[in-house]
Amino acid sequence: MALRGMPAPVADLDTQPFWDALAGDRLVLPHCASCSKPRWPAGPMCPYCYALETEWKHAPATASLYSWTTIHHATHPALKDQVPYVIALAEFADKIRLLGNIVNWDGRELKGGEPLKVVFETRDDGVRIYNFHI
Ligand SMILES: [Zn+2]
Repeated sequence: MALRGMPAPVADLDTQPFWDALAGDRLVLPHCASCSKPRWPAGPMCPYCYALETEWKHAPATASLYSWTTIHHATHPALKDQVPYVIALAEFADKIRLLGNIVNWDGRELKGGEPLKVVFETRDDGVRIYNFHI
């Protein structure tokens, strides 16, 4: 279950397609329309060939656990009844890494490289987001 009470994500010109896709339960990543390389975070220019055209393509449905931290002390009042939870850095193909929560974590020890499955959830404010299952 997504963390409750956190500020809503804010889309901008570079990330609006990402959030629009999440509303339809699709995780997409920006790819350069010229050299086809994916990039993250989203930005207006390809960092490899400097092209300005972007194509949004589906991200894989799975990733691997690259790194993580377990939060035991709430840093926001809304989280005080939701600790502990895990923030994961998931690695997709081409070394694209996205942050998310492992929402089905049961307290067990995690290991780097574990497979993660992308899941979609609706926040209390109705915004669709992605997270991960182990
Ligand atoms: Zn490029």
